[in-house]
Formats: sequence, C-alpha cells, structure tokens
Amino acid sequence: MSLADDFPDITRRDEPLAPYTHLKIGGPAEFLVQPRDVDELRRVLAACQAGGVPVRMLGGGHNLLVRDGPVPGAVVRLTAPAFTRIEWDGTRVTAGGGGPLFDLVAFTVRQGLTGLETLVGLRGTVGGSVRCNVGDRSGEIGAAVREVSVLTDAGRVAVRARDELTFSEHQSDIDEPVILSVTFELPRGDAAAVLARMRKAWVLRKAAEPLSFQPSVRLFRNPPGQTAAALIDRAKLAKARVGGAELSERNSNYAVAQPGTSAADIVRLVDLVRTRVRERTGAALEQELHVW
Ligand SMILES: Cc1cc2nc3c(=O)[nH]c(=O)nc-3n(C[C@H](O)[C@H](O)[C@H](O)COP(=O)(O)OP(=O)(O)OC[C@H]3O[C@@H](n4cnc5c(N)ncnc54)[C@H](O)[C@@H]3O)c2cc1C
Repeated sequence: MSLADDFPDITRRDEPLAPYTHLKIGGPAEFLVQPRDVDELRRVLAACQAGGVPVRMLGGGHNLLVRDGPVPGAVVRLTAPAFTRIEWDGTRVTAGGGGPLFDLVAFTVRQGLTGLETLVGLRGTVGGSVRCNVGDRSGEIGAAVREVSVLTDAGRVAVRARDELTFSEHQSDIDEPVILSVTFELPRGDAAAVLARMRKAWVLRKAAEPLSFQPSVRLFRNPPGQTAAALIDRAKLAKARVGGAELSERNSNYAVAQPGTSAADIVRLVDLVRTRVRERTGAALEQELHVW
C-alpha cells in the first residue's frame, strides 16, 4: 500500500521537512499528507492504520526537532481551510487546529475578548499550541480552553470537555492523534486594556527569545518556581556550543542553529545541558522539545 498511490492529490513522497520547521533542519518525510477535510483525513488515518504506517502530526514545527535521517510513514499537516477556520459566537471562539495561533490572538483582541492576548508573538498552530499548553507566567493557553475536538485512534470525532483535560507546564494530556479544533471561552474585556496587555506581552516576549531571523527552538520546561534558563546559566553553560548548535545569548533555554547545524548537534547539546545542569545544580531538567 502506498499513500502516494491512494491519495495522489494530497501526498508528497520524500518531502524534506526542514522548511516546515522553525529550526530549518532535519530529514525528509516518507509521505507528507495534507488532507482537504475531516473525511479525507479520516480515510488517510484508516489507510495508515490498516497498512501499519506510523502517523505524525506536524503543526508549525516550532517545538520540534526532526532528526537528520528519513522520517518513516506519514506526516500530516492541517493546512486546508477546513482546518484553519475561526468561528465566533459571543464569548465563545472556535479555531481550527491547523490555523496559526497568531491569527487567533489577533482575532480575539479585535473583538475585545480577553484571555489570549498575552500569547501574542507565539508562532505555532492552534493544535500544536494547545497540545504543548503554550504560554508563560502571564498566562497559558489551557486556562482559556472550553473544549477540544479530536479525532480518536478509531477515527471517531470526539469532544473532550474542559473538566476532562489536564494542562500543566507546557504540556497537556491530550493523547488522541489529532486536535481538529479548539473552543475557547473568552470574557469580554475593556478593548483598550486588552490591546495594552497585548503590546506589553509582545515587547516582553521578543526581548526574551532569540532574534526572529535565527532558526531556534526552546529546550526544557521550567521547573516549579525556577526557570530553565537561570539553571542553565548557574551551571555556567551560557552560549555553550556543540557543532553548529549554540545556546542563545538572549535566553539560555533556546538553541540557535548556525548554518550547517545538524539535528545530531542539537541532540548532543540537549544532552550536554541536561547532564551539566544535574551535575552542577542538582536539578533534573525535563525536555520540552519534541524529537522525531
Ligand atoms: C522562538 C520561539 C519562541 C517560543 N516561545 C515560547 C513561549 O514563550 N512559550 C511557550 O510555551 N512556547 C514557546 N515556544 C514553543 C512553541 O512556540 C510552541 O510549543 C508551539 O506553539 C507549538 O506549536 P506548533 O504548531 O509549532 O507545534 P509543532 O512544533 O509542529 O508540534 C508540537 C507537537 O504537537 C503535535 N501537534 C501539532 N499539531 C497537532 C494537531 N493538530 N493535533 C495533534 N497534535 C499536534 C506534534 O505532533 C508535536 O508532537 C517558542 C518556540 C520558538 C521557536
């Protein structure tokens, strides 16, 4: 069975994944599949299940390291309009899992709704960002989630309500293969105050991450009451480098990929940081970065 034969219009074989990630490194996907609607997605997943083909969901590739070799099986992206729509009813906003988080934040701020404005500047998709519970001290996306529509392993659309979901430091317990859409409950706020909070969050975020033209990725979750960056600095690892992979001078919890960096360089840098931080501070850093 070949996905390229069964779904020729939406499948690319041996597609390089580097351009689809923020780090701009990594090997090709055996199949890159971009379904046009939920029904087609369901048929793709059923075909993969029947053929024993592994499936991975790719969002914006901002929390992802793709290894240097080929990625076997299907990598699925939800780029079609069916997966990127934003719908709005009063204080409830439903956003497709494949749409940019940036568009959702801008939409809610324009409507004078409050709850997502401090996430401005985060670049992932809605699905990837909810799976990774993005945010910072000023707020995490999970706090505003009312329900999540998922596709189960059995190919069924199911809704997970707020009280069935657990969000913690940059992770959620959503383990179904696909986040189709997310509904947020966002109270109406004072429009000028919402805009002011968004502007302040933008400035703070941009000052605390690598420059926007640098291919980069965040490495570790913040342990309770501490930041991973402070622990890394305490372990005297500021600007540590392995091959072309270097810790950002603006924030030590980010790796920046210099030209020629391999995925193996990033993996070795992650291992070095984790080991040295444990030796020198006693803290066990937990990896935030997803690796394929
Ligand atoms: C410069 C920079 C700054 C950042 N700053 C922050 C920050 O301040 N706070 C913070 O929390 N994070 C931050 N991040 C991390 C990153 O932005 C988020 O984790 C990101 O939003 C993840 O979304 P994505 O669409 O890029 O997911 P991807 O990286 O593509 O995927 C991440 C995981 O989610 C899964 N996934 C993606 N889409 C779906 C879907 N529709 N259904 C099911 N699973 C899915 C993937 O399979 C993968 O396991 C930063 C990253 C960078 C590069």
